[in-house]
Amino acid sequence: MRDRSHPIQPWDQHNQRLVAQVRPSDWKNPTPAPRYNLVVIGAGTAGLVTAVGAAGLGAKVALIEEHLMGGDCLNVGCVPSKAIIRAARAAAAVRDAGEFGLNLLPLARPSASLSSSDGERDGVRGGLQVDFGAVMERMRRLRADISPHDSARRLTELGVDVFLGAGRFTGPDTIEVAGQTLRFAKAVIATGARAAAPPIPGLDQVSYLTNETIFSLTELPRQFGIIGAGPIGCEMAQSFARFGSEVYLVEATHGVLPREDQDAAGIVKTAMERDGVRLLCCGKHLKLAKDPDGIRMQAESHGKGYNLVVDQLLVAVGRAPNVEGLGLEAVGVEFDQKGVTVDDRLQTTNPRIYACGDVCSPYQFTHAADFMARIVIQNALFKGRAKASSLIIPWATYTSPEIAHVGLYEKDAKVQGIEVDTFTLEMSQVDRAILDGETEGFVRVHARKGTDKILGATVVAGHAGDLIGELTLAMKGRLGLKTIGATIHPYPTQAEAIRKTGDLYNRTRLTPFVKKLMARWLAWNR
Ligand SMILES: Cc1cc2nc3c(=O)[nH]c(=O)nc-3n(C[C@H](O)[C@H](O)[C@H](O)COP(=O)(O)OP(=O)(O)OC[C@H]3O[C@@H](n4cnc5c(N)ncnc54)[C@H](O)[C@@H]3O)c2cc1C
Repeated sequence: MRDRSHPIQPWDQHNQRLVAQVRPSDWKNPTPAPRYNLVVIGAGTAGLVTAVGAAGLGAKVALIEEHLMGGDCLNVGCVPSKAIIRAARAAAAVRDAGEFGLNLLPLARPSASLSSSDGERDGVRGGLQVDFGAVMERMRRLRADISPHDSARRLTELGVDVFLGAGRFTGPDTIEVAGQTLRFAKAVIATGARAAAPPIPGLDQVSYLTNETIFSLTELPRQFGIIGAGPIGCEMAQSFARFGSEVYLVEATHGVLPREDQDAAGIVKTAMERDGVRLLCCGKHLKLAKDPDGIRMQAESHGKGYNLVVDQLLVAVGRAPNVEGLGLEAVGVEFDQKGVTVDDRLQTTNPRIYACGDVCSPYQFTHAADFMARIVIQNALFKGRAKASSLIIPWATYTSPEIAHVGLYEKDAKVQGIEVDTFTLEMSQVDRAILDGETEGFVRVHARKGTDKILGATVVAGHAGDLIGELTLAMKGRLGLKTIGATIHPYPTQAEAIRKTGDLYNRTRLTPFVKKLMARWLAWNR
């Protein structure tokens, strides 16, 4: 069942600023145009990019949002999570300052200004006192600073008719919102996805956090249970451990980030455990129950039983597409538990209706939603033939170190019967990584066997999310490892690791025969 209330309350000046942008209380929906080229339901990244792009090309566009403009990414996803991660990295940098010869002065006992309840509330780790309230306030401030970009007012200035309310198909070319009927030539479903409640015994008996509520925390959990070691679970587990929470991360499979290259995920797992995350992986028989002190978690991990009480619990497994209440049945748009069914052109089973973003994609990322929206504009408005399968979509998880990937994994290549040569360059071979103290990690590139054609790559490094862009560009531009090896990178940078994978490839071209020829040539020319 979908909770249709919006997740952010304007209880401080930053949230007031945010809500004034993304759901202004005095907003009056415009009088609908007689007919729109495009009506878009959902104003997250997918809907915003579709609406702004189409209006910029001269289309008459309406955009409908039932909660907050900006969707998950701005309000309860990428933006707040990355602000928290940045603060956690600062905490880790202070904690580890000794490695750089910087010694922290011993922390004075909490002063009179810090009451005992504050002392209990805030994390204190190795001479570092974390003011969690201030961390969250910074996040809210930055989120509000970013929000004008997605605001109802800006979209209106860009020529989009913005309607606040829940959109629902009512006929073959009509959508109803807040008592008004909008007529469309084409429509786009961009309603995103939400956290799903997994079938864990006792979950329905306890109160728990999801991505919709975690960013409204004002007190640091002392004992924090997190279910699911995917990207969201890992990013939050490491961050909260760095702030001083005792974090128990429960994962049903082995290790963390089960989708990723397992050597890469293993490096992230070690780093998270060093930060204090207690990983209960291969977790079995997870049971939850109410406890006078919070939430009781019982689980088995590697043959050992755990019986813990945590004061907060984050559920970070599973997403459900927002398909309910849209009247999809009435307009012949098929969907299942994975989302709206679309073909490679992002057309639904109703040829007048398209979909993009999390509601129809296994790639649930902001940049994927953005590029799917561009495909929808071409195909819906201009009878284009753009295909979602032609997108090369990288992704990153912003733990420390980060892990980023594009294209095929080695296991995918095996399943598809594609033979690959794999080139792995350890970050410990890169001067800048040594100087930065970030030697854990690698760049791993899979090339079609016997060629320099890049089929996939994984990077584990301090800023892997930034490094993966170069390999994505290479794949998109059909530039091989030879070109990467011949591209001058400034010294010293961590990006040199990528250039060096080109060197690894070039070395394979030095066959014994070529070496022999070269040796002869050089001998003659002495
Ligand atoms: C904690 C977290 C961290 C993340 N971090 C990253 C990251 O670092 N990088 C990254 O690329 N991705 C990240 N993501 C994923 C990213 O947020 C999503 O992929 C992205 O928001 C998808 O955009 P969307 O437009 O498809 O959907 P959404 O952002 O979910 O937007 C859909 C919108 O539709 C509205 N809506 C739904 N039904 C209706 C209706 N009937 N009528 C009107 N409006 C409706 C919703 O209210 C919502 O505003 C993260 C997600 C989470 C949860």
